[in-house]
Parts: sequence; structure tokens; C-alpha cells
Amino acid sequence: MPKQKISILVPMYNEAAVIAAFFPAIRAVMEKADVDYNIICVDDGSTDDTLRLLTEAAEDDPRIRVVAFSRNFGKEAAMTAALDYADGDAAIPIDADLQDPPELIIDMIARWREGYDVVNAKRVSRQSDTVVKRGSANNFYRVFNRLSDLQIPENVGDFRLMDRKVIDVLKRLHEKDRFMKGLFCWPGFESATLEFERQERTAGDTKFNYWKLWNFALSGITAFSTLPIRIGIYLGVGVSAFAFCFGVWIIAKTIVTGVDVPGYASLMVVVLFLGGIQLFFMGLMGEYVGRIYMEVKDRPIYVVAQEIGFDEKH
Ligand code: UDP
Ligand code: MG
Repeated sequence: MPKQKISILVPMYNEAAVIAAFFPAIRAVMEKADVDYNIICVDDGSTDDTLRLLTEAAEDDPRIRVVAFSRNFGKEAAMTAALDYADGDAAIPIDADLQDPPELIIDMIARWREGYDVVNAKRVSRQSDTVVKRGSANNFYRVFNRLSDLQIPENVGDFRLMDRKVIDVLKRLHEKDRFMKGLFCWPGFESATLEFERQERTAGDTKFNYWKLWNFALSGITAFSTLPIRIGIYLGVGVSAFAFCFGVWIIAKTIVTGVDVPGYASLMVVVLFLGGIQLFFMGLMGEYVGRIYMEVKDRPIYVVAQEIGFDEKH
């Protein structure tokens, strides 16, 4: 019987500083795992030496394959490409900076062999993250799971094992704005969860600042839930009902006590309140309209400039 094959998927953007440590770490683990494997690296338009180092690595090791983008398309696009190129019986996305401990792959494969189609890796401690990042991550999962029908497991990143079945379903999800944490959960199937301590980055810098993360969170939520605009309906009904009662009361009061001119304060409160709500929901609708716009343009998710190491049989 041929050995089962695992594809390790690695998005890389300006990771020249970690490449030298990354491949030996993965190799050491995979050698122990008794599987056939390949490593699919996506160079996400790096401006440093990443592509050159990857090309050299691919020349030395037939298991390493490189897909180079024509420019930076973002981590989600890089991950999508890696999945498209993956040919293993299972795939494991992993960050290049070794924040996801490769040793966990052994346990993932063991659970996979027990019959689980998805093996999640959950961060038990986020000591390596700042207090603000930890807090906002917790809130994100809470809000997301409350608003969306799809439940995503807390503190499970992209590092996970997915069976071929799952990958094939993922490849049928063609949306352009890709929130991978959500998409990864969408196919379902039997899942197991392992726990691990998130490490510090070995070298280099994080590519995500708070503004990027905030936008990422917003697009993740709007990609998986229309509840935010639906709230507008209830709020609209509530405010209208209040306005109606208020109107009845004013008319009755005018009939009984006559015209009463002062009322500037209450008028301002109502006008400003309604204006605020209207603007808020117009913005929210705009967000969804914008998303429709991006989807109907139907541009490709990424553009490949170069493929390296794909002829070898590994
Ligand atoms: N990454 C990418 N494209 C980008 C940004 C990041 O492919 O535009 C990759 C990056 O090289 C790394 C992974 O995504 O392998 C995670 O990035 P990072 O470590 O900066 O994120 P953090 O761990 O700080 O959340
Ligand atoms: Mg990292």
C-alpha cells in the first residue's frame, strides 16, 4: 500500500529571516511521522529575499514546491492558492514563523488515522500575544459566534489538519473575500481538537497591525452573517412604534391643553437619534453592497507568476 501523503501549506510574506529555521524544523517532524509529504510554499509577493531562498530550497529538496504570486495578495489568498496546489491525502496549513509548533503535526496525523477528518489546534495560552490582542480576539469569537449560524472554535487558527474530503469541499467555495477561519469550518465533518502553547515568532515581524485585524474581523463577520442588517429592521420597527405613540400623545395633548410651542429639546433628541441610526445602517448596508460589488466583479483571488519544483514526483 502506498504511504499516505500530507501537504504542508505555508503562506510566506517577507519571511527571509525564518526560512533557514523553518524547513529543518518541518523535516525533522515529518521524518518521524511515517508519511509521504510535500511542502507547498506560497510566496505572497515578498519584497525581501524570500523567493530566492525558497527557490534554492526547492532545488535542494524535491519535496519543496513554490508558488510565487505576482504581488502581495494577502494571507487568505496565499492559503487559497496553497490549497489549490495541495495534492496530499490531507493538508496542514502552518505559519512560516514557527509560532505553530511543528511537533503537533505528529499528533494531528495520529488523530486523522483514528478517523477524524479535521484536527484543530487550539491555543491554550496566548502569552506570546499582547493583552489587547488577547482581549480583542476573545471578543471577536464571542461576537462572531453570536451573529453567525456557523460556529467557529475559539482560538483555533489556520494551523489544523484537513482530510482530502474537506479540501475538495473548500475548493468549491469560490467567494473572493476569503475569511479562511470561517471557510475552514464550513464543510463540517468529524473534528478533533488538540491544544498547544503559541510560541513567540522565531524571527522577523508580524504582518498584522490592529487596524488590519479590525478590518479583518469586520469582513469576517459580514461574510458569515447578515444579522447586522437585520437588526436594522427591528430597530426601525421599535423606533417607529415609539414615534407613533409619541405622536398620539402629542396630538391628544394639543387637543386637551392647546398648542404648546416649546419642544426644541425633545425635537432635537428625536432628530439626532434617528439620524444616527439611519447613518449607521446606511453604512452597514454599504458594507454589504460593497461586498456584492467585489464578488460580482469576479476577479481571480490570486495571480501566479511562477511555479517552482512541481515536476518532481513527491
Ligand atoms: N502572510 C502572508 N501574506 C500577508 C501577510 C502574512 O502570506 O500578506 C503570512 C506570513 O508570512 C506568515 C503567516 O501569514 O507565514 C502569518 O503571519 P504573521 O506571523 O505576520 O501573523 P501573526 O502570527 O502575527 O498573526
Ligand atoms: Mg506569526
